[in-house]
Amino acid sequence: MTPPSSRIPVAILGATGTVGQKFVRLLDGHPWFEVVALAASERSAGRPYADVVRWRETTPLPEAVAKMVVAPSEPPLPGRIVFSALEAEIATPIEQAFARAGATVVTNTRNHRMAEDVPLVIPEVNGHHLDVLPRQRAGRGWTGALVANPNCSTAGLAMVLAPLHRAFGVDRIVVNTMQAVSGAGYPGVASLDILDNVIPFIGGEEEKIAAETCKLLGDMTAGTFRNAAIAVSAHTNRVPVIDGHTETVSVGFARRVTPDEVRHALLAAAPSDLLRSLPSTPEHPIVVDPRPDRPQPRLDRDRGRGMTVTVGRIRPCPVLDVRLVLLVHNTIRGAAGLAIQDAELLVARGDVA
Ligand code: NAP
Repeated sequence: MTPPSSRIPVAILGATGTVGQKFVRLLDGHPWFEVVALAASERSAGRPYADVVRWRETTPLPEAVAKMVVAPSEPPLPGRIVFSALEAEIATPIEQAFARAGATVVTNTRNHRMAEDVPLVIPEVNGHHLDVLPRQRAGRGWTGALVANPNCSTAGLAMVLAPLHRAFGVDRIVVNTMQAVSGAGYPGVASLDILDNVIPFIGGEEEKIAAETCKLLGDMTAGTFRNAAIAVSAHTNRVPVIDGHTETVSVGFARRVTPDEVRHALLAAAPSDLLRSLPSTPEHPIVVDPRPDRPQPRLDRDRGRGMTVTVGRIRPCPVLDVRLVLLVHNTIRGAAGLAIQDAELLVARGDVA
């Protein structure tokens, strides 16, 4: 695919939050996209970004955005693509207003993920679900579009299940998550609640993992989604890790499958030429680490610039068929990095107005 002849202007909604800051960092120097607007709540609007953001990234705040004045989260903004990292409670009308006004909105919020005309996309898993967009535009009378990212735990899980589902048919899974505190935004969970502790509840997360996994691994024909029939039992836990969700998964298949077959299917899962042409696609979207004590969040989350999902401990399961451990960087592959890769795919397919 030929790269765009000039950088495409993009805006970030929720630019001051945890995911918003990750967008700012990942888009700094992006070869296809140029940040031209930052927006947040009325609390931040009208002031320079550097004055209102509590910058928590480990790289310096990019100079190009530091002096940019934060805009209110309403159209029009100059970006043709609008990334949304808004607080979910207020995001629905704002995201729809931008799509109606002609922007291509790629959102991290949960609000539209399960809508029957909204593609929920991971390029390596189901990029063809973007084929629903003409139906979305016609049905809603939009000139723009709305595309959603899955929840951060689901992103890692679906990346690993997709090649297994293609090869063998996944029937049922049990997944336990150990989710980082950055997944709760800023300031998130109080330090006195999470240090020296594990919290065995994340509101709405288990339901999201079940529903979104089945949509991601399902089919899309003639503008209609048919969810995969996979029974998902999810247990979600918040743990005192800053970034990186670890998930232990037991998988049952439609037929008997061995750990070696699972390992080979994961190793064979290479991105297509189109996906390889996208700047955010890592060389290896999935890495199988043979070491017995890996993956670990602190050591493995930055693999592939945070876009690679690491899998380890593939072994027989005495209850289902095979068990494994996976690690996903929740604010990169599970949020901002994935949204940027989705936007790159939209550009490569000619879907951006
Ligand atoms: P966060 O740190 O709490 O940031 C929330 C952002 O929303 C801030 O920029 C805030 O701006 C803005 N905001 C709040 N109220 C607003 C209003 N009334 N109008 C306009 N803007 C408003 O949250 P986060 O963790 O970055 O998450 C952002 C979204 O991504 C959420 O929907 C979350 O569920 C989703 N998500 C997060 C992760 C993750 O790993 N953290 C992963 C996947 C998806 P002010 O600073 O001006 O208040």
